[in-house]
Amino acid sequence: MNIHEYQAKQVFLKHGIPVPPGGEVAGTAAEAEAIAAKIGGPVVVKAQVHSGGRGKAGGVKLAKTAAEAKEKAEAILQLHIQGLPVRKVLVAPALDIAHEYYLGIVLDRQMGLPAIMISREGGVEIEEVARTKPEALHKLHFDPARGLRPYEARQLAAKAEPDGKVAGKIARVIEKLAKTYASVDASLAEINPLIQTPDGDILALDAKINLDDNALYRHPDLEAMRDPDTETDSERVARDMGLTFIKLDGSIGCVVNGAGLAMATMDLVKHFGGDPANFLDIGGSSNPDKVVTAIRIITEDPNVKAILFNIFGGITRCDDVARGLVEGVKQTGVKLPIVIRLVGTNEKEGREILASASGLHPAETMDDAVKKVVELAGAGA
Ligand code: GDP
Ligand code: MN
Repeated sequence: MNIHEYQAKQVFLKHGIPVPPGGEVAGTAAEAEAIAAKIGGPVVVKAQVHSGGRGKAGGVKLAKTAAEAKEKAEAILQLHIQGLPVRKVLVAPALDIAHEYYLGIVLDRQMGLPAIMISREGGVEIEEVARTKPEALHKLHFDPARGLRPYEARQLAAKAEPDGKVAGKIARVIEKLAKTYASVDASLAEINPLIQTPDGDILALDAKINLDDNALYRHPDLEAMRDPDTETDSERVARDMGLTFIKLDGSIGCVVNGAGLAMATMDLVKHFGGDPANFLDIGGSSNPDKVVTAIRIITEDPNVKAILFNIFGGITRCDDVARGLVEGVKQTGVKLPIVIRLVGTNEKEGREILASASGLHPAETMDDAVKKVVELAGAGA
């Protein structure tokens, strides 16, 4: 799950990372004007969307007066940045910048450890720095259980800042960012730019945190930061029903029980020349309502030409899935071909229920089912 900049700054503040004070969030231009008036001086108006590169896209603007802040907010609230509508802006006092650094922690999946990165060349896209000037990006892996040692933070800071006093402040931010990263179960925590003010203070001018979805149950305060505006209707409906759903670009809708089987099914669809339209795990103990919801979500996608049900009945009972299927077909009036591979607990009862419905194509093995659905999707395209 991603959170917005203003939320990430709240998390930073709680963990002792200095952020610019006095910022507030507005949903309308009038609210932005009121916040700017309260601040009194020049402000920066920043789009709150789950996307980087807001500055380049016109989503970060300085304003000298409250009236100007209103104008800028009005324009920013009409933007789409990387396809995402801007629904909120952060209005904060504008700061003078003496220098912009990059500081970030990402999970290095190959090493199985977080990597902390710092550069004196901040405020620009760090991928660009990594490509064109890799020697300007300094990297260190650390063990989150052991934590980052203070001397490691000092060594990193010294690589980005020659002034010892300022580097000391940066080192403390590095240590705190490493602690924040581990304690919120982040997969990414990034400050770009980390700035030095003309007075030599160090502040996080921007803030980005991605959270590990599988650890969110441990962080109800962070879960509460979820912004429903950033989810598609399908994703929201799926989550409310306890389904794991990820939309993809192919033409074959997949309904599977168990994440491992879902992955294997998608691999097999690819293997036989098809493209999955989604990942959808209806979970262990499935009830007919979940199957109905699954069919609804999948048939909302106009790219879908055929649907594959791949169910291995263990705790999930095949007759439950079959009943849900028949009910789902009835309720949604779906006309797409549906291929079903149903084996395991109560498989015979399940088959009997399916035999009574029309438009369903049973298959005995996984290979047969996938071949058939790929063929049917192709024929319908
Ligand atoms: P991003 O483009 O989505 O990464 O948004 P940022 O928050 O990083 O803002 C982009 C750029 O806007 C920063 O690198 C700064 O150069 C500039 N900026 C943002 N806030 C301020 C501010 O308060 N004062 C000044 N002078 N520049 C700012
Ligand atoms: Mn930034």
